[in-house]
Amino acid sequence: MKQNKKIDAMFVLSLVVPVFNEADAVGLFVDKVIEVFAAEPNVGIEFVFVNDGSNDNTLDVLLALQQRCQNLKIVDLSRNFGKEAALTAGLDSATGNVVVPIDVDLQDPPELILEMINKWREGYEVVLGRRINRDTDSLLKRVSANWFYRIHNIMANPKLPKNVGDFRLMDRSIVDAIKKLPESRRFMKGLFTWVGFRTTYVDYVRPNRAAGTTKFNGWKLWNFALEGITSFSTAPLRIWAYLGFTVSLVSFVFAVFIALKVLMHGVDVPGYASLMVAVTFLGGLQLIGIGVIGEYLGRVYIESKRRPTYLVRRVFEPEDKNGP
Ligand code: UDP
Ligand code: MG
Repeated sequence: MKQNKKIDAMFVLSLVVPVFNEADAVGLFVDKVIEVFAAEPNVGIEFVFVNDGSNDNTLDVLLALQQRCQNLKIVDLSRNFGKEAALTAGLDSATGNVVVPIDVDLQDPPELILEMINKWREGYEVVLGRRINRDTDSLLKRVSANWFYRIHNIMANPKLPKNVGDFRLMDRSIVDAIKKLPESRRFMKGLFTWVGFRTTYVDYVRPNRAAGTTKFNGWKLWNFALEGITSFSTAPLRIWAYLGFTVSLVSFVFAVFIALKVLMHGVDVPGYASLMVAVTFLGGLQLIGIGVIGEYLGRVYIESKRRPTYLVRRVFEPEDKNGP
């Protein structure tokens, strides 16, 4: 790791940490952050924990931590809204000059933030944490992630940078820009990229989870990928027009061919197999087309209800610890 410059002027760094059943991990996380920033008196740390409807004792552990931490805020959501909504809630209540969304399981190493801060000082407004390998992921996750980025980036604009998660440093101006985006279904990686600004990277090796277990199974990731693509591309909708055009063209050529054949050789009854193939193939294509329209229509429907992205049960402000 590079030698870090000393950071001179005082500023506040908000760590936005979504947590879902992470009672074992939060303590380790806070200790690690405090240790990393012990030698940086000019960085004021603001912890913004978003309790995403945990059903273990995460909230109690957080409240206990609040007693011994300087500046620790807990946004307690009314139920599990998912990581994207939890991140949104965190960004909404973070007040720092720079904001870093970070996983609580120490897979996003807090030491890296020092390097990110150096880049920010050089004038970059976004500093992405980029994983230089995916050895800590299963083979299935690696292959599927690779395909997701490929397909997403063919269809969607702007392109998602590869091997970059939510772990990044953002200047206040970016957080404000993201807060202004009105959609209630939020694919954060896409939104972060969409806003643009001057961007750079710092590379890191992603370690294994420090405690607890992953909250994402295959089905959740599949739906997450669909959300990403449908939120940032309409190519899957438009592709059907081109496909329909191609199939019609081929059918037309085929029809001419059959007509000529009948003219030259007379009527030829057999053709059942080819007929069935054409009917079932086209039936399948039409169902896929309707399914894709359904995906989008469903999203339009949900978005049109204008429900809030998340609901807060209670915010535990740092100063609450002195209150009643
Ligand atoms: N998380 C959340 N809500 C959810 C699922 C996950 O807030 O519904 C949080 C989780 O507590 C963790 C972060 O999102 O801080 C990343 O989750 P995880 O480590 O399970 O994901 P992975 O690293 O396995 O992709
Ligand atoms: Mg993790």
